[in-house]
Amino acid sequence: MGSPELRNRVLVVDDEAPILEEYQYSLGDRLVQTDDNVAMLALEQELFGQASAVHSTRQFDVEVCSQGGDAVKRVKEGVANGDPFAVVFLDLQMPPGIDGLQAAEEIRAIDPNINIVIVTGSAPVCPETFAQRVPPVDRLFLFQKPFHAVECRQLATALCSKWRADQALRKSHELLERRVAESTVELHRLAYYDAATGLPNRNKLLRDLDELINAARRGGTMVGVLLLDIERFGFINETMGYESGTELLGAIGARLEGIFRGTDIAGRFGSDEFACLVGNVGDQAALREIVARVEGLFSEPFRLGGRELFLKVGVGVASYPVHGREAEEVFRCAEAALHRSKRHVIHETTYYERAMGEFARRQLELEAELRAAISNGEIKPYLQPQICLRTGEVSGAEALARWIRPDGTVISPGEFIPLAEEVGLSDAIFETMLRQLADEISAWRREVGWNAPTSINISAHQLRNPHFSQLILSVLAARGLSPDTIKLELTETVLLDDLSVAKHFLAELVSHGVGIQIDDFGTGYSSLSYLAELPVQSLKIDQVFVSRLLDEPTQARVVQAVIALGSAFELQVVAEGVEEKEQLDYLRENDCDFAQGYLIARPMPPAEFVSWLTGTLSSRQALA
Ligand code: C2E
Ligand code: CA
Ligand code: CA
Repeated sequence: MGSPELRNRVLVVDDEAPILEEYQYSLGDRLVQTDDNVAMLALEQELFGQASAVHSTRQFDVEVCSQGGDAVKRVKEGVANGDPFAVVFLDLQMPPGIDGLQAAEEIRAIDPNINIVIVTGSAPVCPETFAQRVPPVDRLFLFQKPFHAVECRQLATALCSKWRADQALRKSHELLERRVAESTVELHRLAYYDAATGLPNRNKLLRDLDELINAARRGGTMVGVLLLDIERFGFINETMGYESGTELLGAIGARLEGIFRGTDIAGRFGSDEFACLVGNVGDQAALREIVARVEGLFSEPFRLGGRELFLKVGVGVASYPVHGREAEEVFRCAEAALHRSKRHVIHETTYYERAMGEFARRQLELEAELRAAISNGEIKPYLQPQICLRTGEVSGAEALARWIRPDGTVISPGEFIPLAEEVGLSDAIFETMLRQLADEISAWRREVGWNAPTSINISAHQLRNPHFSQLILSVLAARGLSPDTIKLELTETVLLDDLSVAKHFLAELVSHGVGIQIDDFGTGYSSLSYLAELPVQSLKIDQVFVSRLLDEPTQARVVQAVIALGSAFELQVVAEGVEEKEQLDYLRENDCDFAQGYLIARPMPPAEFVSWLTGTLSSRQALA
């Protein structure tokens, strides 16, 4: 016997008691082996692969009744109990109740899967009529009385196994359909909702804005779009952990949802950007009120990991029909306004203004491109090695930013770093450079075992960022790297921008072991007094001097002076832009400590740098 839902339940219906006995004999377990049924039983086994009833345990669960009405009731109960019949044998004539054909119709209406066998006597029948009245044809059979016991048994066996196969097929179809339905829902969710907050995502927001704009067009009202950027979210993620970051996003989403109900919608627009769409706004004053409510949401702290966290947001605002007539256009204006707001050291709400003009628009586009490039990981560190002039060993490397466009074009930092500084993106560039660099350093320490420090360039903006040193320390700590893994390269201009701030800031980093190096030395201020005041470890001679070293005696004297200055202040000296062997020899003879330049190697993508490193370390010399 199979599992309960797959029992071979057989219902036999006949008004004559002797016939019911026949059935019970045929379908029972005591079918006697006589000469003429042994052959048929063997055939049965061959056909249906079932052990002969003579030897097996009970093959069928047989129930009997003598009236069509009872049969209908039994079938109904079976279906209701989840234990349906596989086969029903129905006598055609069963006075005084309904006849077999009518019973068959009623049974079919209750159970579409049951196999119905109409058992006819000698009276002539019309199979086509039967098939029409009790479809489908493949579940309706005619059987002639009087029947041979083995024939009856074989028919029941065949129909039961057919029924079981049908059931199994139906189950798998149902399962499949359910899976398809579930994944359709899931796909919809993935396409239109953000996983971390459950809020509508950018796609959904654009569609919703379309609808709000259509409604506003009909009603002659405004639609406001507010974009919110969470200040320093990346830093929170880094210091408190990714899960806390996700939790925080959820909490922000919940607050926003709390004030946006009905036709207004809050959604997540980017990694740390939220959007609010406000339909049916009467005028600008009403919009300003809503903006104030959103800002108010952030005056209360968020609780995260038992701590209270005050968040600052930048808000960019634009509206239909003032700034655009289509959803995309209004969104773009709100984005432009948001980016404007982020330029301020302390983010503030910015309303999009047409007066931002064409130039500003182009600048914003470029800025938006660069911003997208940063979040799409298109800004990558290239690495250029430095060698020790005394030993020839690879003594360090410098990370130089490259913007790799999706089409493979490489944009040099000279083209995008100034823009980044101007629009307040240099912190974001530094952050992505630092993270990637720290990942690469961990990888090559593991793979090559090379431990020399790597330098990274910083710009003035970073010295004003109060979280800066914490960011560096936490990025390194998260990867198990010590602070002396990194050296910061600052130009004199950066340093002298605000010396007292720089001093305080550098002292903190140096106390943790981070190295500080002065870049492009000799091109900036001529005052050297700061060298005594600042916790600096090395100087980089600008490549301008190195390149003219051999041709212009004054340049050579500058180089010698810088080297002498270095030794007076106990600072190491690095010469950059070394392109010729003669320059290298001159620097070595004049006791310069380190050299960097195309002669040794060009800046390379990390993978190439690691191969270079492996080759150089195994030959033990960077420069023959
Ligand atoms: P830098 O810090 O003075 O970097 C040295 C520049 O000289 C690099 O240009 C490097 O590729 C190039 N260079 C190296 N060896 C030679 C050589 O032998 N001959 C010549 N002619 N050039 C050589 P790059 O990579 O175009 O970077 C330009 C500047 O952009 C850098 O000058 C640095 O000030 C800035 N920069 C690069 N990456 C970053 C960054 O991640 N953040 C910031 N704030 N600035 C960066
Ligand atoms: Ca540099
Ligand atoms: Ca330099």
